[in-house]
Amino acid sequence: MTQFNYYMPSRILFGKGKLNEFINYLPGKKALIVTSAGPSMRKYGYLGRVEELLTKANVPYVIFDKILPNPIKVHIMEGAALAKKNNCDFVIGLGGGSSIDASKSIAVMTTNPGDYWDYISGGSGKGLPVPHAPLPIVAITTTAGTGTEADPWTVVTKEETNEKIGFGYAGTFPTLSVVDPDLMMSVPSHLTAYQGFDALFHATEGYIANIATPVSDMYALKSIELIGKYLATAVNDGSNEEARAMVALANTLSGFVESTSSCISEHSLEHALSAHHPELAHGAGLIMISKEYYTFFAEKGTEKMVDMAKALGVKEAKEPMDFVRALVDLQKSCHVADLKMSDYNVDKDNFEKYAENARHTMGGLFNFDPSPISPEDAAGILARSYN
Ligand SMILES: [Zn+2]
Repeated sequence: MTQFNYYMPSRILFGKGKLNEFINYLPGKKALIVTSAGPSMRKYGYLGRVEELLTKANVPYVIFDKILPNPIKVHIMEGAALAKKNNCDFVIGLGGGSSIDASKSIAVMTTNPGDYWDYISGGSGKGLPVPHAPLPIVAITTTAGTGTEADPWTVVTKEETNEKIGFGYAGTFPTLSVVDPDLMMSVPSHLTAYQGFDALFHATEGYIANIATPVSDMYALKSIELIGKYLATAVNDGSNEEARAMVALANTLSGFVESTSSCISEHSLEHALSAHHPELAHGAGLIMISKEYYTFFAEKGTEKMVDMAKALGVKEAKEPMDFVRALVDLQKSCHVADLKMSDYNVDKDNFEKYAENARHTMGGLFNFDPSPISPEDAAGILARSYN
């Protein structure tokens, strides 16, 4: 018998121009705006627009703009100290997944004692329960990649130990999320591709996960279908508003999948790679291992992959490998089929170590794989993905 718990508490404002409405739903009186260290939020005027809207609404704010593409623990502690010092009573994550994830972790550490890693399960984390509710979280996403605006997850790296670990629970869902494709028009082509494939894999992993439910399946297939139809257009013509909006929708739907099913070990393996090679974008890392990863499950006879091939547009799909072929075709259309680990100085002698790291830090996700992956299998997937 099917059984599941469904909890999806975020208010989501979706669509062109929706940023203007977010001040109607603010969950507090003073904001900490958490955003990236790079220049793009200022350059494209997104930070300016948020500041202007807050000022108009008489809501004071403090800006913390140090977040790196792979957020690090020291910045979580620093952001939380800034929020405390200024008596901020909610956070706004503005930017891509890294800024929004960091805002969630900062929201937790603003109201809770100790060190962020005290609450992390996996690796050297202590896995303690979080005693106090985090600050309310507002997510304003400027990319279509992580689904973080529609899920409770945040990924932070502890640099000293190369541990890149996801964390989240019911308290870290955003209270309010804005998904306004107008804020995504400036994302460069290659990042549009990396982020779009990240969204795709949240949906495909959640679809074949052994804890998928009828609800997560519905979100996953729609997300896969939208990526199949629109991602290549968004990559090849960033000014196409419809394609941007549909990829944004696919990404939000895949966030629902992460909230109602789960990512599986593809994400654990990628985190091990990018924890050791922080310059490797998460989506690019996933793309590099995806062909071999899904081939592994195709060979295990994972029948649900036939549905995924159909969702990607292969109407006559009959066997799991049809999904792998459709995936590679989509990667070619998005100019990311030839990404190389060697370009990021990944050392092929380290794959056993990375497979071990994946299990040590994010081992829980292996429990949701549709069939078991041994440490040797995992190292083999990485090794076959190397070029
Ligand atoms: Zn991801």
